[in-house]
Amino acid sequence: REQSSANLQRPNESNYPKVKSRNEDHRLRILVTGGTGFVGSHLVDKLMHEGHEVIALDNYFTGRRKNVEHWIGHPNFELVHHDVVNPYYIEVDQIYHLASPASPPHYMYNPVKTIKTNSIGTINLLGLAKRVKAKMLLASTSEVYGDPEVHPQPETYWGRVNTIGPRSCYDEGKRVAESLMVAYNKQENVDIRIARIFNTFGPRMHINDGRVVSNFIIQALENKPITIYGGGEQTRSFQYVSDLVDGLIALMNSNTTLPVNLGNPEEHTIKNFATIIRDLVGSTSPIVNKPAAEDDPQQRRPDINRAAKLLNWSPKVSMNEGLKLTIDYFRKELEKERFRR
Ligand code: NAD
Ligand code: UDP
Ligand code: UDP
Repeated sequence: REQSSANLQRPNESNYPKVKSRNEDHRLRILVTGGTGFVGSHLVDKLMHEGHEVIALDNYFTGRRKNVEHWIGHPNFELVHHDVVNPYYIEVDQIYHLASPASPPHYMYNPVKTIKTNSIGTINLLGLAKRVKAKMLLASTSEVYGDPEVHPQPETYWGRVNTIGPRSCYDEGKRVAESLMVAYNKQENVDIRIARIFNTFGPRMHINDGRVVSNFIIQALENKPITIYGGGEQTRSFQYVSDLVDGLIALMNSNTTLPVNLGNPEEHTIKNFATIIRDLVGSTSPIVNKPAAEDDPQQRRPDINRAAKLLNWSPKVSMNEGLKLTIDYFRKELEKERFRR
């Protein structure tokens, strides 16, 4: 009887994806805020595979349990329902702070909450990092450069953001988050890392995410009009999610407190991007123009020399390769949706 109850208490690890075995001296306790979101869940996967203890914290605004369900019950994994605007107490070695809406329609939905998440939320995590002496990485963004006059954008560029425009809640939210990181580093000796992330895509983006990659792929798969906001001459540079996750982990384990751009410099106009996706899907969608988005940055491409030099990092997955994997993912998701209806 004793033996069978012990078996009941110990989950069968063979039911989970494989994790590296580590002795306790080398195993870290790592907090990932925004851990059930698109990027967060891929980061959780990699840290789990590496054999660490991972706490995924999320308020499920845009994240989903489904993105991490394959770990639920694993002895190294913990899922916490919490909003970072409220203080949070735990003992950890490292914090990856990703909690924040990221897609324009999501961050504009409740601009006040977006600002609170990035300001008060970041203060709370920094207070935690200070108390337990954890190393903390902030998921910042290329949006700190705003609609840039310098192209491509190096980390030394200070940016051009409209403080009273519709993107301000997010852009200024992330800018103050960076300022807080630097202030806690100078004043309280918190060990900080700042990743300036450029447009990233891949499986597990939400069907209603609203960013260009998921919108265009879904529109193409359903043979519905592909919607370009404005003339489509604006550019973006798209990075596949596995490259970003590798970059975030390399940055955390480096010794630089300077901000580091993480992105793929392969740049396309949005017009060209629409055609690329339509062709890859083999779709008959027409391409249509909608009104331009207000304050839409007109060009964006990362200068990644700093990441190459300090982290020995550069993206490995080409945009086309990444798009194929993402199209496969959405094809399956849409099939599941149809089946449910
Ligand atoms: P996402 O929306 O999928 O993930 C964000 C996660 O944060 C979600 O799980 C959401 O529920 C959670 N969250 C939001 N507010 C919260 C709060 N107050 N408390 C707790 N959890 C909260 O978006 P993503 O693309 O995975 O973005 C992750 C991070 O990377 C964000 O900080 C984003 O600003 C940054 N980033 C992403 C990109 C990109 O292209 N994906 C580019 C630049 C920066
Ligand atoms: N905080 C937290 N978890 C902790 C430690 C602090 O959420 O483990 C919060 C705390 O509520 C505070 C914020 O982090 O509001 C900033 O902490 P700090 O120590 O810098 O500020 P103070 O408490 O001195 O105002
Ligand atoms: N965009 C578009 N159609 C869409 C969604 C976005 O033309 O259905 C454009 C948007 O105006 C911007 C670019 O694609 O110029 C990237 O938008 P996204 O929201 O993905 O990210 P951003 O880099 O603007 O935060």
